[in-house]
Formats: sequence, structure tokens, C-alpha cells
Amino acid sequence: MFEIYNSADFEKAYTYTGTDLGVTWSKEQTTFRLWAPTADSVIINLYESGEPEKNDKIGSVSMSRDVQGTWTATKTGDLNGIYYTYLVHVEDQDVEACDPYARTTGVNGYRAMIMDLRSTDPEGWDQDKDPNFGKAITDAVIYELHVRDLSMNEASGIQNKGKFLGLAETGTKNPDGLSTGLDYIKELGVTHIHLLPVYDYGFTDESLPLPQYNWGYDPVNFNTPEGSFSTDPHHGATRVSEMKQMIKTLHDNGLSVVMDVVYNHVYDGPEFCFNKIVPGYFSRINAEGIWSNGSICGNDTASERNMVRKYLVDSVCYWADEYHIDGFRFDLVGLIDVQTMNEITTEVHKKHPNVIFYGEGWDMPTELTKQDIELAIQPNSTKMPAFSFFNDTIRDLLRGKIQVHDAPGYINGAPTSKEILNACFMGMPTWAAEPYQCINYVSCHDNHTLFDRIALTAPDASEADRIRMNRLAAAFSILSQGVPFFHAGEEMLRTKPDGDGGFDENSYRSSDEVNAIRWENLSKPEHSKTINYYRGLIAFRKAHNALRNQYRKDVFNSVQMIPFRNHQVVLFRVLDGTQEIFLIFNASSEAVSVDLPTGNWDLMIHDDMAGTDSIAQKAGKVEVAPISATVLTRACD
Ligand code: CA
Repeated sequence: MFEIYNSADFEKAYTYTGTDLGVTWSKEQTTFRLWAPTADSVIINLYESGEPEKNDKIGSVSMSRDVQGTWTATKTGDLNGIYYTYLVHVEDQDVEACDPYARTTGVNGYRAMIMDLRSTDPEGWDQDKDPNFGKAITDAVIYELHVRDLSMNEASGIQNKGKFLGLAETGTKNPDGLSTGLDYIKELGVTHIHLLPVYDYGFTDESLPLPQYNWGYDPVNFNTPEGSFSTDPHHGATRVSEMKQMIKTLHDNGLSVVMDVVYNHVYDGPEFCFNKIVPGYFSRINAEGIWSNGSICGNDTASERNMVRKYLVDSVCYWADEYHIDGFRFDLVGLIDVQTMNEITTEVHKKHPNVIFYGEGWDMPTELTKQDIELAIQPNSTKMPAFSFFNDTIRDLLRGKIQVHDAPGYINGAPTSKEILNACFMGMPTWAAEPYQCINYVSCHDNHTLFDRIALTAPDASEADRIRMNRLAAAFSILSQGVPFFHAGEEMLRTKPDGDGGFDENSYRSSDEVNAIRWENLSKPEHSKTINYYRGLIAFRKAHNALRNQYRKDVFNSVQMIPFRNHQVVLFRVLDGTQEIFLIFNASSEAVSVDLPTGNWDLMIHDDMAGTDSIAQKAGKVEVAPISATVLTRACD
């Protein structure tokens, strides 16, 4: 039954290209348009509330068949705040479904709500823009954060715990008076806050006083904010206005916002509204009725179909237009096709040329519904010039192979080829067309935190040495060519103990206790020293253009590896305009003495210190501390 969707005739007859799918509201009337080519009839149910169990229907409107598989209806009057669903008769059944183009919903996303979107705009929204407008992606420093992790800990001092508004609070302090939350992130010097899913997801019951913790990789409504992050999930406009308020405040504080989007699968394939309205169209289902499962979530999105592709393009454009989102991180983008991804980046860039795009370009098995489709995997980077990929090469190089929990990496003594170290430092792993396509990281929400990973791979090392390993990983990844990215709290030795003496490597639905950032740690000397070190690394990177090249040709012209006798020590010279930078990474547990190139050098990064002020003057030789990075600069002759 699903093969009908695969034919060229079907695509030709039923590809709608208009921009008015969903609801078009005005004070005088509301127009609805739904794509449902196989439906026999469609009725709009109007409701007083968004509560799925309430029998509060206040009317219904029949839709008429219109062009290219769409249905339309218009109702006069001001419908702002009215909830609705579609009752679709298809394949001899009546199904009630939410609008795939819903702009907001009632609690738990069952009923869509008609909304005057302008009434949700915070003050000054028409002047709001990306604070990093005009900069290149390699100028970004990305901080990956779950909304709830920021504020749930008691010591956060944040009022709106677990909410969008918690990210919009300034002046918050831990019990020792140290800045937490937004102020803290701002002081770190990162440029982009990357938020784990904030669209409406399914696992968490929004109606609970304290909804369950979840990362949110289980999409229900792709175009509405998640209700559990709002102070009132029952009223559709609240989640919208509060999410915008958060974004406005972050922008006002110089931070761009990246949204984690999960278009490759949905929470529940058969129950997803698009799949209810046009049975099975949204997902890859073969002739035997088997759902393709490369995502390991039970269903893969059929992005290669015209109206799914359009849906994805429309959705990303909507978030960029309506919510002023400055970047998108695509979950398992390797399951989405190249053409769709390129249409997304092209369409968004027409109005918002600064928006950045990156994702997980892993190669996973999926059953496509069309022939000759190319997937958005790392080796196709040449075909996706506006897209960057998570760099697992540098991740595995530094912290060890992700699949083997106790496999060490370069930072804790694994024998490492200088060729790979060089390729990673230069932003040139084999799969990347250009350095700007490398999102360099040693930790993200997935897998063990960096500090936990170090504990597992260096069980005999002292805590002081483990902290050295953490710093060395940060120095190498933040100073490499490409785009630095790190998991919130990596800079304060974040750990997720599982309560059993081990570590939680997949805390997607663990407690807040495991997941929340522990703000009391700011007051501990080793933690605060490490935070300062990250701040210094970020400031140093920002101060040197040559560390932020976009293209291979520029890297070849400015970066050079210098041979050195010790296989655990790598040296690089970087020409930065009128300055020269000399970088030494020492993974051995011994201090090493390194001959400096001619001239007088300023020591900028050394042992546990990093920044943009000279620590000392050096000439002839420099002593590099065990397991650490040393970086010097000098004015060129
Ligand atoms: Ca939800």
C-alpha cells in the first residue's frame, strides 16, 4: 500500500508548493490548508481548550478538496486562542490528528492552537538579531546545553528551574556569590548556546508538577516548543512567548542560539500526526510493511519524498524566521538525503545568511524509498558546502575510541600517529572537504562526560593528572582548525555518577541529580582553575585569526607541524599576520624541554594557565609541564 507514494506520478500530481500549509490567522478570518491527497473527507474540529480528555468541542468546519492534494477551509471571526484538530477519513477509517504545521498546542501536543503570533513577541523583537551576525562559523565557540541541566541544581540560584525562563535570568549566584547560569556562560566567552531539543517531544508528561527528565530526542510536534519548559503547558501561547523571551535575552547578552533538531525519526511512527493523515507517507516503510530503523528509534523519516522534504525545509525556515534561531544541529543527519539538506541550507540562507548548520553525519543503514538518493554522511561533505559535521576523528583521537570504554586516547598515553594529530590540528580529517566543516569536540551529551571517560581510561592516574588530561584535550580541540564545541560543564570537570560507583554514559532519562550542573563546584579550587583555563583558551583562540581559518588553502599557508623526537609531543608553528604562534602539546607524564625557534617569545598558555596576557618571556628553550599544552607568541621580524 505504501508503494503508491513512491511513483513519479504520485509525486507529480500531489506536490504542493504553496507557503500556506497550516493556519493563516487574521482578526477577521482564519484559513486552513492541509495536505491529505489520499483522504476522502476532512473536518476541522474546534475546541475551547487544549486538554485532550475534555469534551469541549465548540464547532466544526468541513474542508474542500483543493489543488495538489490539499484541502482548504475558511472560518470568519477572530479564532485566536481556539484549539483544533483534523478529523480525516482515510482508508475507511476516521482518524483525529494534530496539524503537522501546528504553531503551538495544548498540553502534551494533542490539539493545535490558532494563534496571533505577533502577540507572543517580546518587546524589541522586531530589532532582535544574531549578535554574531557577519562572523564565520569558525569564529563560533559552541556550548551544548540542556535547558533543564542549567537550573535544576539548588546552588544555581535560578528561580525558573527547568524552564526556558531560567536561561533568561541574569544576576544569579551560587551560595558563595559566584555567577551561575546565563552570566556564567557569558563570562566563559562562548559565542553560541546549542540547546538540546526544545521542540515538542513525547516522553515527558507536561501535565505533571515536576515533569520527568528527558533529553527530548522523541519529536511529536516539530514546529512547536516543548511544553514542560514553559511555566504553563496548558496555554498554547505561553511556551511560544517564553521561548522567544529566552532567545531575546540570550541575544541581548551576546549569545547566539543553536537548536538541536531531530527530523530523522519521530516519537511514535504510526501515531505521528503526518503519518495518521497520510498513512505512512512520512516514514520509510517497505513493501512488506517493515519500518526502516537506521535511527534505532523504530522509524526513519522518508526525507526523499517531495512533501516530507518540503515539510523539513518549511520547518527549519519557520524556526529561523519566527524564533530567530541562529543555528541548527541535525541529529543523525546521515539518515536524511543530501538534496533535502541543501534545500534547507539554501532556503534559510536566503533570508538569514549567518545561520550555521551541522550534524551527525554517521553512516547508518536505512531503506530508502527511491533510487539514487545520496545521504548526508561525512564523506559527502564536498556536496554540502553549507553544512559541517561532528568530528569523531578528533574526538576518538583525543579521548579514545568511543565504542571501547577503557580505550585511552592521546591525552592519556595511547600511542598516536603524528599524521593523525597533524590532520586533526589542521582541520583535515579524511572525510572533510574543508576545515570549517569540522565540529571539533571531546564531549557532548552522548556517552561519558570527558572527566568520567578519563577516570575510566586512566584508573591509576591521580586526580591532579586526570585534570591535566582534561585540560590537554581542551587545549588541543579548542586550538585546532575547525569549530570548537563542548558539552556544558566539561570546563568544570562535569561528572555523572550512576550511584553504583560507575558513571552514567546515557543519561537521557536519568534524574536531575545525575544531569544537572552542580554550581557549588564553582567554589572548588581545581574546578575554578579549570574554568579559568577554558576561558583563557577561548580568549586566545578569538585573539588569533589564523586559528580560525575556514579553508584548506589558508591552513596550508599558515600552519606547519615541526618534527620532534618524542612521539607523545607534537609541535606546530602558526603564522598569524604579523605574529607567529608556537604550540606544543605534551601527552607524556614527563616534563619536556623544547628548543624555541629564533626570537623572543611570550608565554601565553602554560601548565594550568591560559589567556591573552604574557605569563613570561622566553628565548632559546621552554620547559613544558607533563600532560599539558604550552603556547607562545612573538612578533614576526
Ligand atoms: Ca511535549
